[in-house]
Amino acid sequence: MIDLHCHSLYSDGLLAPADLFKRALQSEIRILALTDHDTTEGLAHLHAAAATANISIINGIEFSTRWKKHDIHIVGLGIQLDSDVLNMCVKEQTHSRIERAIEIGKRLSRAGVSSAYEKACKVAGHERVSRPHFAEVLIQEGIVKDMKSAFTRFLARGKPAYVETNWTPIAEIIRVIHVSGGLSVLAHPLKYKLTRMKLNALISAFKDAGGAGMEVVSGLMTTLEVEEMAKLSQKYELLASTGSDFHGEGVSRVGLGRQIQLPSGCTPIWTKLELH
Ligand code: AMP
Ligand code: MN
Ligand code: MN
Ligand code: MN
Repeated sequence: MIDLHCHSLYSDGLLAPADLFKRALQSEIRILALTDHDTTEGLAHLHAAAATANISIINGIEFSTRWKKHDIHIVGLGIQLDSDVLNMCVKEQTHSRIERAIEIGKRLSRAGVSSAYEKACKVAGHERVSRPHFAEVLIQEGIVKDMKSAFTRFLARGKPAYVETNWTPIAEIIRVIHVSGGLSVLAHPLKYKLTRMKLNALISAFKDAGGAGMEVVSGLMTTLEVEEMAKLSQKYELLASTGSDFHGEGVSRVGLGRQIQLPSGCTPIWTKLELH
């Protein structure tokens, strides 16, 4: 199995990189990319844990970007962690994330939750909090019953605690990924709930900006959806990527490396990655 998209507790995943690595061994994964949101902090820990085993570790990241009022995610695969351009961009993204989180906290205080940002930091164990950490706070406070209703009532786009964020635009993110030696991948194209016309416009804009690949398989998808994404990857001449988008048991419906197979006819992105 190959898994080129997953999260650790350095972003909004539940597992430490070393525990992710144990899962990877159990799932007989041979190529694994850790792609935390806007941070590469977990990668050194993953490399340390993987030192003795026969799994190729790919340095990854999942960047948040903005395109026409939508929050679009772009994965970078095979990036060099010591790239100044990359690290500068990560720093800016972290700044945007923290500013946003403070604003989300303010909005949630109007909904009756005091110190929501501080509480979310505690849940996360770091200050670069994601919306799932706020969702967890809302659950702990007894305001919502689960993650899903935290999003539909408070955190999703258009809801009271949704904050428009000044994420780096797609073209700049693609440039940063490529300058730091990586390949850029449009993450989970069906997650944005775009009409097929808008989705084509997004993929086309991504390709025009120099984008290298797209996730044909991401998390839980039907065979039909995968076939459709495979066709789009061929239409726009994009390399095909695959990942579980695993965040941890209980929160992810697909386990690490357990997503369905990439169909034949696409060009797998790992054929272009340097494997160690
Ligand atoms: P953020 O990077 O802070 O905008 O948070 C985005 C993360 O929230 C995604 O990577 C998912 O892990 C999670 N997420 C987004 N939308 C939902 C949703 N509707 N239900 C549950 N989790 C979600
Ligand atoms: Mn996430
Ligand atoms: Mn994502
Ligand atoms: Mn993800």
